[in-house]
Amino acid sequence: MGLVFLDLTWQMNSKTITINTLEDTEKLGALLGMTAWPGMILCLDGDLGAGKTALTQAIARGLQVPESSYVSSPSFAIMHEYKGRLPLYHMDFYRLTGEDEVQEGGFEDYFYGEGLTVIEWSRRCEDLLPSERLFFFLAVTGEKSREIRISWSDSYASIVSRILTNFSTVA
Ligand code: ADP
Ligand code: MG
Repeated sequence: MGLVFLDLTWQMNSKTITINTLEDTEKLGALLGMTAWPGMILCLDGDLGAGKTALTQAIARGLQVPESSYVSSPSFAIMHEYKGRLPLYHMDFYRLTGEDEVQEGGFEDYFYGEGLTVIEWSRRCEDLLPSERLFFFLAVTGEKSREIRISWSDSYASIVSRILTNFSTVA
C-alpha cells in the first residue's frame, strides 16, 4: 500500500522559479497577498534563512496588513494572526513537538477559516494539511538569489499561472 501517498506533492503539478533579489521576493509576496482568497493555504518549506518569513512579510503588505504590525517568526507561539483585507494566519511549525500540538491548539480550524494561512515548516505536520494547497520549497542559491519550487493542487492553477507569467522559470 501507498508509498505513493507518503508525499502528496508527488501528485501535484510543479515548476521552479528564480528569484534574484529581495525585491523579487517582495513582488511575489505582493502578488500573493493581493490575490489571496479566504481559505487559501500556502506552505513554505526550505532551509533556515531561505526567506520564508521575508516572503510572509511581503504577503502581509499585499493583504494590507498595516506596516505597524511587524510580521515575525511565530516559532514560540506557533501562530500569529494579523488583520488585513483578509486575516493572515501565520504559522511556524519549526518547534512543533508533534501533531497533537496542532490538533490541541485548534490550528486546523484556521485552515478552513476566513483568512489566508501561511505555514512555515509545513512538512513537520504534513498529515494534517488539507490536500488542496499551494506549496513553496525555497532554496538559497546565492546571497540574494533563491529558487522556489512551486507545487500546487488544481484549485491553485490560476494564481500559479499569474506567478509563472511574472517570474522566470527554471527548465
Ligand atoms: P526563513 O524564515 O526562511 O528562516 P527569513 O525570511 O527569516 O528566512 O530570512 C531570510 C533572510 O535572507 C533575511 O535576512 C533576508 O533579508 C535575506 N534575503 C536576501 N535575499 C533574499 C531574497 N531574495 N528573498 C528573501 N530573503 C532574502
Ligand atoms: Mg522563518
